[in-house]
Amino acid sequence: MISALVDFHCHLDLFPDPVTAIREAEEAGIHTLTVTTTPRAWPRNVELTNKSRLIRPALGLHPQVVPERAAEISLWEEYLPQARYVGEVGLDAGPHYYSSLDAQKEVFAHILKKCDAAGGKILTVHSVRAAAAVLHLIEEHQSSRRCKLVLHWFTGSKSEATRASELGCYFSINAAMLSKERGRDLVCALPADRILTETDAPFTRVNNRPARPSDIGSTLDMLGELRRMTSNEMATIVATNLRTLLTGKNNSASTC
Ligand code: MN
Repeated sequence: MISALVDFHCHLDLFPDPVTAIREAEEAGIHTLTVTTTPRAWPRNVELTNKSRLIRPALGLHPQVVPERAAEISLWEEYLPQARYVGEVGLDAGPHYYSSLDAQKEVFAHILKKCDAAGGKILTVHSVRAAAAVLHLIEEHQSSRRCKLVLHWFTGSKSEATRASELGCYFSINAAMLSKERGRDLVCALPADRILTETDAPFTRVNNRPARPSDIGSTLDMLGELRRMTSNEMATIVATNLRTLLTGKNNSASTC
């Protein structure tokens, strides 16, 4: 049996032709979470995905756009009751965005608090050069533990990954993370029951073109090789993890 394939973080609304990108992901049978970078993109993303069987939209306010768009937090809040999935949200302390880190922390803390109060949300979280700060804010503002968090493209240390696991976080792994020794080493150490896959398309590249959700098969090949199992076994683990994430149990046949 072929397991469900999972792309738990990509930006289909930023493809040159989002309608085609969504149709292709659907036809390829990929359970896909398509994030937004600003709340203004939410209505369009809902419209693009509302007839889809496998593609779900997430409501985000990306940390990199906080300098220009922090005020859109009120719009994000207005849309929150409509959204089961939240992202892309988080912190970016890379050199280009470091100067807005305080404002990013304010926005992310607010998002975590509102999600915690609402309950039942699933968040996809960005943590570039900010793993410790992200985990600190999660500890502080997700006290009810009624939401699930997925750390997207996590590049923190192994001890930070352990801390994240203890907080109940999942990790979505992309091909770029597996291209470097440090990333492979980290991914090897993650608990099997917390691993998901993602492309972050169109921001990663495969064969000199922007990635798309159907590239998830090659990520599973690499991940399987790294963790010494077949690609199919790896796909089964990821599909089971998705089911657990979405339903809280792992013995049901339903997904998304
Ligand atoms: Mn992204």
